[in-house]
Amino acid sequence: MAKIGFIGLGIMGKPMALNLLKAGHELTTYDIVVERMDELIKAGARKGSSSKDVAGKSELVITMLPNSPHVREVVLGPNGVLDGARRGLILVDMSSIAPLASREIAAKAQEKGVAMLDAPVSGGEPKAVAGTLAIMVGGPEEVFEKVKGILSAMGSSVTRVGDIGSGNVAKLANQIIVALNIAAMSEAMVLATKAGVDPEKVFQAIRGGLAGSTVLEAKMPLALKGNFRPGFRIELHIKDMANALDTAHELGVPVPLSSVVMEVLQALKADGKAGDDHGGIIQFYEQLAKVQVRG
Ligand code: NAD
Repeated sequence: MAKIGFIGLGIMGKPMALNLLKAGHELTTYDIVVERMDELIKAGARKGSSSKDVAGKSELVITMLPNSPHVREVVLGPNGVLDGARRGLILVDMSSIAPLASREIAAKAQEKGVAMLDAPVSGGEPKAVAGTLAIMVGGPEEVFEKVKGILSAMGSSVTRVGDIGSGNVAKLANQIIVALNIAAMSEAMVLATKAGVDPEKVFQAIRGGLAGSTVLEAKMPLALKGNFRPGFRIELHIKDMANALDTAHELGVPVPLSSVVMEVLQALKADGKAGDDHGGIIQFYEQLAKVQVRG
């Protein structure tokens, strides 16, 4: 069993860390919001006093933080992971961040003898709890092979996509597909409702056909209840779409549908809904058409 450090115990990090404990690993945790460590400590984890402290007590450090600046601060900043790391430490960043940031952080880590993988996840809170996330990994094959078994405690699929940064490229692709799917579902279901047809019946009629999807199965039942408790917050999806648009534009790739959905997300944020689940995209369409899908 490995000595693992886990930094960032939010909606995703907490259940992921609990699954590592359940798998029998020795865990030291840290979060700047100290109460977020309480449940883990009760379950048998040790309390770290900083990212540096966590790194000093671990062979493998996992980070699950909001975005690139947070990962930079936690890894490279004062009292950060690299301050406390011994040569040979493995760092697995499971946050969804810009691929370029992963590459920059990995290069700095390597100077200190620390090998890094980027390993963002898809599946949201329910799959984080169940330990069935889809984990997409970038970084050296031999490092991947060392930690693959450990990552399996948190996910039902653990796939190495390529070199460092590739995990986050896969995640950007994932986030474009998810955002566009939710928008398509919302547009269609608001139309059905305005046409006087029961959206629940439309859902039942189409879910087994070509329009059926994991997004439809996960988000439509919540839309029918008007339940937009996060889950995956709109503000985090804005962060992912900003990373997707930046990366696409740096590469000279036009992404017209992504930029439209970004503006839909921005409109929801301006309307005070940044903290809602991204399934709340449907509220934008409901407001335009002056109709509500929820029963
Ligand atoms: P969250 O905001 O709930 O959790 C982030 C945690 O990091 C918080 O507890 C915060 O206090 C902590 N943190 C921030 N700065 C820190 C620092 N300097 N030192 C220590 N701790 C610090 O976010 P989340 O929903 O758990 O998402 C985490 C990552 O996973 C994001 O990149 C997100 O895009 C991605 N993700 C989220 C979901 C989801 O459904 N929520 C799904 C897939 C991927």
